[in-house]
Amino acid sequence: MLAILSAMQEENAMLRASMQDATTQTLGRRDYHVGDLFGHDVVVVFSHWGKVAAASTVTALITRFNVSEIIFTGVAGAISPDLHVGDVVIGDQLYQHDMDVRPILPRHTIPLLGVDAMAANSDRVNQLKNAATEFLTNDMNEVIDADLRNTLSLEQRRCIVGGIASGDQFISSSASVADLRQRLPGVSCVEMEGGAVAQVCTEFGIPFSVVRTISDSADEAAGVDFPVFIERVASVYSHGIVRRFMESKAHLV
Ligand code: SAH
Repeated sequence: MLAILSAMQEENAMLRASMQDATTQTLGRRDYHVGDLFGHDVVVVFSHWGKVAAASTVTALITRFNVSEIIFTGVAGAISPDLHVGDVVIGDQLYQHDMDVRPILPRHTIPLLGVDAMAANSDRVNQLKNAATEFLTNDMNEVIDADLRNTLSLEQRRCIVGGIASGDQFISSSASVADLRQRLPGVSCVEMEGGAVAQVCTEFGIPFSVVRTISDSADEAAGVDFPVFIERVASVYSHGIVRRFMESKAHLV
């Protein structure tokens, strides 16, 4: 069974509303919704924010719900200067930018795994990139109103594949962005959970993939209009991308 894990409550609510015959189990202060989503058996759950919250949710998904795969959705701040609010990043390599066991290990190396980056499932990266591109090209006009599309120039938005860095901080300064660019040059965007999901899935040998909508530029303006963006853009994106992915794929069993 596939898990659709969301870092935002609003995304989770929108996916939950599209489920058929769902039952809900509460465990460790999370509601796990088990049922049919776009023709496939899934578990839909909100991780809450931060690495520990995400890791504990993923551990429960794997050990209690026996999921065979995790797709993780959420929002992120742009680190690459080419990214804009409303673009989508599919993570290929996941990092933990706040992992620092120097001088015992090099900065960013994860002690148990001995690596500083964990790879998402490459088939899924390609399939999710296609799903996101189809959503942006064909579906977005129908589900996001024209005013918002114009304000955010959403017609010009695109999906890229890139590195994602996670840490237990909301990044909101240009100095932090510059520091991250210098420390982790392969990273496109920053958030607070993906690297934790990647670590737990890698430890258990479970394939994972991460889809992030850019919500801010991780600088001093990062907090502006955040709730509006999450509700009216990011949740609609996640729902639309997951739908495209699941409806177009016979690969999910
Ligand atoms: N300030 C927001 C709350 C932070 S949201 C509000 O008022 O609603 C935190 C979530 O957004 C986490 O899931 C994290 O992964 C993601 N996120 C988005 N932009 C981020 C950034 N610039 N730095 C870190 N996490 C970010």
